[in-house]
Amino acid sequence: MKPAPFVYRDPATVAEALEALAEYGDEGKILAGGQSLVPLLNMRLAQPQALIDLNRIADLQYVEERSHNGAAGLAFGAMTRQTAVEEHAEPIPLLHEAISWVGHPQIRNRGTIGGSIAHADPAAELPLVFLTLNGAATMQSRSGERVVPAEEFFLFTCTPDVEPDEIVTDVWLPLPLPRTGQAFLEVARRHGDFALVAAAVSLTLDPNGMIADARIALGGTAPTPMRAVRAEASLKGLAPGEDAFDEAAHQAADATEPTGDIHADAEYRRDVAAALVHRALQTAHERVGVAA
Ligand SMILES: Cc1cc2nc3c(=O)[nH]c(=O)nc-3n(C[C@H](O)[C@H](O)[C@H](O)COP(=O)(O)OP(=O)(O)OC[C@H]3O[C@@H](n4cnc5c(N)ncnc54)[C@H](O)[C@@H]3O)c2cc1C
Repeated sequence: MKPAPFVYRDPATVAEALEALAEYGDEGKILAGGQSLVPLLNMRLAQPQALIDLNRIADLQYVEERSHNGAAGLAFGAMTRQTAVEEHAEPIPLLHEAISWVGHPQIRNRGTIGGSIAHADPAAELPLVFLTLNGAATMQSRSGERVVPAEEFFLFTCTPDVEPDEIVTDVWLPLPLPRTGQAFLEVARRHGDFALVAAAVSLTLDPNGMIADARIALGGTAPTPMRAVRAEASLKGLAPGEDAFDEAAHQAADATEPTGDIHADAEYRRDVAAALVHRALQTAHERVGVAA
């Protein structure tokens, strides 16, 4: 199928892109890597009046070290290709492990970090990493700049907290604290498919080897990527080990709201969630203090 006719704009700066976006309002759509949007256009599931292509905006392609709220991290321009993110991801082991699950190299050569976050697919890897680590997204509009923490960014399926006149310009992710281990696991029908279920864990121990902080999030099990908050809380202050991990894995699975589809039913997804969280906790624990 071919897309419905649209006006094409290819601004060279963010300011020009914001002007174009303001011109078309709800009828304008940002084009980033096109790896999600173009199929939607071709199937006519999206029929915007205008496409505003960000690909000429060189200022939106960068990777840099930056602190945010006192935490060290990496900042990515929204148009940074997923391949470039992958090349710079080593300081954040969760990101490094997760990104190789995103489609195939051809997809990652075009797809962008901003596009993946803004598309907000509940089974996508980058939104899950963003949520697990509580990153921050910066949006620009003609009226200024807004920074939204990942915990508030995903509103519903494929619905991020991005207004029609806003462009995501920057995605920030924190570096792990000392004594932190991270792990990303996923079950998909084939490598490169969206996850049936994915689990992401970041575990930080205190100097005595007890669990100081745990971040656990799941993809494919709710309308948005979801944190397993009760499971995280259940681990704090405990010695890492099978009993603690088993309890947390079951709490995480209990918190899911999976739906069934032709690929897997809800019960299967819940079982897989428990198994993946358990394994991800074990792996993250094994990696504490081990250089990525
Ligand atoms: C065969 C195939 C397999 C795939 N497998 C996976 C997979 O396993 N896991 C996975 O996570 N993804 C997968 N993808 C999707 C891929 O990761 C996309 O790159 C990603 O979902 C969207 O990024 P994009 O840059 O291509 O955005 P686009 O497709 O250009 O845009 C996606 C949406 O985000 C909006 N948008 C984009 N950038 C911005 C911005 N800066 N500000 C505001 N709104 C913006 C667009 O308007 C659009 O609504 C797959 C794609 C294909 C074609």
